Amino acid sequence: MHQLSIAILISLLSLSHAADPLRVLIVDGQNNHKWEFTTPVLKHALAQSGAFEVTVTTTPPKGAPSTAWDAWRPVFRDYAVVVSNYNGEPWPEAVRADFEAYVQGGGGFVSVHAANNSFPEWQAYNEMIGVGGWGGRSEKSGPWLYVKDGKLFRDTRAGPGGAHGPQHEFVVEMQDLEHPITRGFPSRWLHCKDELYSRLRGPAQHIQILATAKSDLTGEQEPNLMVIQYGQGRVVHTTLGHADYSMLDRGFYEILERGTEWAATGKVELTAAIPADFPTEEKTSPVALEGHPKQAK
Ligand code: ZN
Repeated sequence: MHQLSIAILISLLSLSHAADPLRVLIVDGQNNHKWEFTTPVLKHALAQSGAFEVTVTTTPPKGAPSTAWDAWRPVFRDYAVVVSNYNGEPWPEAVRADFEAYVQGGGGFVSVHAANNSFPEWQAYNEMIGVGGWGGRSEKSGPWLYVKDGKLFRDTRAGPGGAHGPQHEFVVEMQDLEHPITRGFPSRWLHCKDELYSRLRGPAQHIQILATAKSDLTGEQEPNLMVIQYGQGRVVHTTLGHADYSMLDRGFYEILERGTEWAATGKVELTAAIPADFPTEEKTSPVALEGHPKQAK
C-alpha cells in the first residue's frame, strides 16, 4: 500500500477509536435529596458532551427486603467510571467488595453532593471520597479540611463533620488551574443556588483540592472540588449539586464532564473545550433543560 494511504488509514483508525464514548454508570435509588429530579440532569450533562454513553442503575428503595438487594449486583468493571448520586442504606457486602476492587484496580469514581454523606462506617469508601459529612462523622472520622491563604489545613479539633447554611449563589474559587479538570477555568465564577458544604471530615489521604468557596458558617475556604487517588483508581469529589437548579449550571456541567472523563482516563481531551457561556464572577450561567420539571426546593 502507498505510504500516504497507510498514513490516512492509521489516522482514520485513531479517529474512530477516539470517537468511542466512555461508558459511565450512574448509581441512584436512595437519597435524602430528590434523586429522581437530579439523575436526569447528571445524565443530560454527560450525554450532551458526546463523550459518554450513560447507564443508570437504581438500588432497591429504603427498607426493601434482602431478596431485592440480592438482585442488585452492578458489574462495575463494565464501565470506565461510576458516578454516585446515592446516599442511603449500606450496599450488600458483595457489592461493596466489588466496588472496592473496581476502584482499587483503576476504575474511576465521581462522588456528587450527598454521595459524600453515605456510608460513614465504610472505611474504604471514606478513603475514596477523602472527606464526608453527617451520618455521625466527627473528629474520629479524620481532620476537617479547609484552605487558608492557598494552603491546605487539617484541623483535628473535636467537632461534628458536615454543616451548611441556607442555600445561596456563591463564588467558586479555583485553587488549582493546572489540573486537567480545571485548566482554562476562570479563577473565580458565580455558581447557581446551592448548599455550601462545610466542616467535611475524613481520612483525607492522597487528596488534592481543586476548588473552594468561602463558607458563611466557618469563614473558611471549604473544598467543593477534590481529586483523590485510591489504589490505581482516580476519584473526583464535588460537593456541589444539592438540587436540579444547582446542577443546571454551566460551571457544574463542566466540572461533571471533565471530572468524569478524567476519572475514567486520567486525561481531559473529549470535554476540554470551555464553553463561551461559562459563568463569570458576576453572573451565573444556568443551563436550560427542555421538558425537565422544576424541583420544588
Ligand atoms: Zn443538599
